[in-house]
Amino acid sequence: MSLLQVQALEVSYGPVLALRGIDLEVAAGEIVGLVGANGAGKSTLLRAISGLVKPRGGSIQFSRIELAAMASTRIVGSGIAHVPEGRRVWPDMSVAENLQLGGVRCSNAEKESDRLESVLGLFPELRSRVKQKAGTLSGGEQQMLAIGRGLMSRPKLLMLDEPSLGLAPVVVQRLKDLFRTLRSDGLTILLSEQNARLALGATDRAYVLAEGRILASGTPRELMNNADLISAYLGERADPAV
Ligand code: ATP
Repeated sequence: MSLLQVQALEVSYGPVLALRGIDLEVAAGEIVGLVGANGAGKSTLLRAISGLVKPRGGSIQFSRIELAAMASTRIVGSGIAHVPEGRRVWPDMSVAENLQLGGVRCSNAEKESDRLESVLGLFPELRSRVKQKAGTLSGGEQQMLAIGRGLMSRPKLLMLDEPSLGLAPVVVQRLKDLFRTLRSDGLTILLSEQNARLALGATDRAYVLAEGRILASGTPRELMNNADLISAYLGERADPAV
């Protein structure tokens, strides 16, 4: 069953049309990738889903509820968490405070301390640093904190914008393992990546975006078999088996 359904979505920034006729579906329990170069429209698509930019046309349905006209604060409460590009943690607040702020709009009845405990269970690297200021963490730890903060609202859909940017290969591998764990816990993930190797190595299906349009979609293997697509948009080193 489709958890997220985007149809004929159009978003513009003034005269700049950033998304043109986007159709996309994410089924419950899937990990879906959005792949494309800088400026392809990946961030804009995630921002439109979480209500940070308002579409000028089309529809976004989440659990069959229309989001296109809903305020972003209500969208978080409806079960979508958005981890933006650049892991914007609050540097002067502690790890625990950053996590607690992520749960402020949670509509789930579960106690905050229980949610905190369950998020820390996923991130041993944060558990030992709960009182430390977030700004003193490494880049990889800050990315884990940004994801943990998103998970504090107990989302059904976790959207991640370029999580691997600037991270060492060992941390990227940690992210891949984390996505599998989250999926086995029942979470659905929409992942935007310029790193085609991560996007195709960690997802069930992916959409390739260029200049605000969807050029192709399919399983990593189907996309990798499309030689023109690989050389033009995914880079020759992408390999879903890695
Ligand atoms: P990146 O990886 O650099 O974030 P992206 O695929 O996420 O790239 P977007 O950031 O969604 O792409 O940008 C899509 C298009 O919209 C680009 O042409 C970009 O210049 C334009 N754009 C993005 N944000 C704005 C804005 N706030 N005002 C005007 N144009 C914007």
